[in-house]
Amino acid sequence: VTKLAICGAGGRMGQTLARLVAESADLELVAGIDREAADGAAAAALGCRRIVTTGAASSVLGDVDVVIDFSAPAATRELLQSAGDALAGRALVVGTTGLDEDIEARLADLAGRAAVLTAANFSPGVNLLEAVVKQVASVLAADSYDVEIVEAHHKRKVDAPSGTALTLAQAVAQGRSTRLDAVRRDGRSGSTGDRPGGEIGLHAVRGGGIVGDHAVLFMGDREQLELKHRALDRSLFADGALGAARWIAGRAPGRYSMADVLGLK
Ligand code: NAD
Repeated sequence: VTKLAICGAGGRMGQTLARLVAESADLELVAGIDREAADGAAAAALGCRRIVTTGAASSVLGDVDVVIDFSAPAATRELLQSAGDALAGRALVVGTTGLDEDIEARLADLAGRAAVLTAANFSPGVNLLEAVVKQVASVLAADSYDVEIVEAHHKRKVDAPSGTALTLAQAVAQGRSTRLDAVRRDGRSGSTGDRPGGEIGLHAVRGGGIVGDHAVLFMGDREQLELKHRALDRSLFADGALGAARWIAGRAPGRYSMADVLGLK
């Protein structure tokens, strides 16, 4: 049995994860981690035996194989600050998006003593899409095919563009051997003038209950190639994250990705 802790246990993803863990025979939820501590009925209502704050996370990690984090960048930072040592020799799976450079540096540091996997998207389809987009971008020349990425999410999503859209944009940049920073264009408004060749446009739609849509458009003068993915249920991501947790439990320290888990490398 793989023993888990979920950071962000009270959230949409945390709740979905707790439900799937309860339904599985080979996973056990040792504790939740969130903004407020809880035990007894309050914790049980969230599918956990107990919930501790990020500051107290190290107190529950003694018995944990894998921590799964779907929270918010501030919580991920607090978890790494307070439980960095307790995570040594264990594994961390991060699905939280919008992470800044400071958190990325802390994750890189942790990877020296723990197995660390981060993914902006845990769905098999999006991870395949990433590989396909990179290949297409390496063939359809930047001066003939304009690329725009359009993503749509529910109205409570707090970051834009989505981590997945950025990962897909990165795949385009890699396929074209350019740096994303140099060609990225977020949104478009006002008197923009002609579209510069090579630009990678990112557009974020927000509203209602959309789980996650991503489209990568390669637009030439005479043809257009559109690659689209639609997530229909949040449990898609939770399932993928639990697959990653099963895969990473007991692995040597280092940095891993969903491409490793899905055998896409
Ligand atoms: P949510 O707002 O429903 O849940 C976030 C949880 O984190 C809440 O329980 C909240 O109390 C907790 N939290 C926030 N700040 C905290 C802090 N400072 N300290 C302690 N706890 C804190 O969000 P969600 O929809 O569950 O998404 C969570 C994250 O997962 C987001 O970053 C989202 O973009 C990401 N996400 C990733 C994937 C993926 O496949 N990688 C899929 C869906 C969502």
